[in-house]
Amino acid sequence: MGTIAERLKIALKTITQSVCDANRPANSVKLLAVTKTKPVSDIVQAYEAGHRLFGENYVQEGVDKIQQLSEFSDIEWHFIGPLQSNKTRPVAENFHWVHSIDRLKIAQRLNDQRSAHKTLNVCIQVNVDNESSKAGAAMDEVSALAEQISAMPNLTLRGLMTIPKAQQNEDMQRKSLLVMKELFLQLQTKYPQIDTLSMGMSNDMQLAIECGSTMVRIGSAIFGSRQ
Ligand SMILES: *Cc1c(COP(=O)(O)O)cnc(C)c1O
Repeated sequence: MGTIAERLKIALKTITQSVCDANRPANSVKLLAVTKTKPVSDIVQAYEAGHRLFGENYVQEGVDKIQQLSEFSDIEWHFIGPLQSNKTRPVAENFHWVHSIDRLKIAQRLNDQRSAHKTLNVCIQVNVDNESSKAGAAMDEVSALAEQISAMPNLTLRGLMTIPKAQQNEDMQRKSLLVMKELFLQLQTKYPQIDTLSMGMSNDMQLAIECGSTMVRIGSAIFGSRQ
């Protein structure tokens, strides 16, 4: 298993190798370390190993950790979990990024509750495989939602996020990832500040990088399995 620092190093090496294999520019993929359900001491270990980008899924747990680690002021905190409209305020007030905007109401509330001092970076979550059990905007809702978010002064639209369906084979998995890449490139032509395609987790990060991901969200490969 190794230590968190060792596993982090392996994950970073895998990213570098996958980027190279895909003939993509060096440093074109970021690693978001996903620490949901893991103790603050795990985050500190990764921090001491040089890591600064962390992702949390649950509002209360995430805000508690951000407050406990407030002296680590150069951590960039990403909210990546499902977001209910009555819980947007603590997210707007504490996180730097939200990956999981899937409807207008959530975007509006985050915009209203964010201080005008510094914009909140946001991604639209896309339900690319149209799964009824999964959050995310439908493919055909993305364009209108992007336009609405772009007009909000306290949000900066940075891109798209997805959690594709687990498929039986790599070709089917690749298909969904490439649909996302296409949508991402299309949006980028309209909104030049868009630079983030958040896709790929512990078990599909290489394939996601092959298909254009710019940020992989890695939990268990670094911090071990969750309960
Ligand atoms: C938990 C989670 C991850 C990390 O998953 P692993 O398989 O542990 O790497 C990434 N993205 C989201 C949205 C998650 O909820």
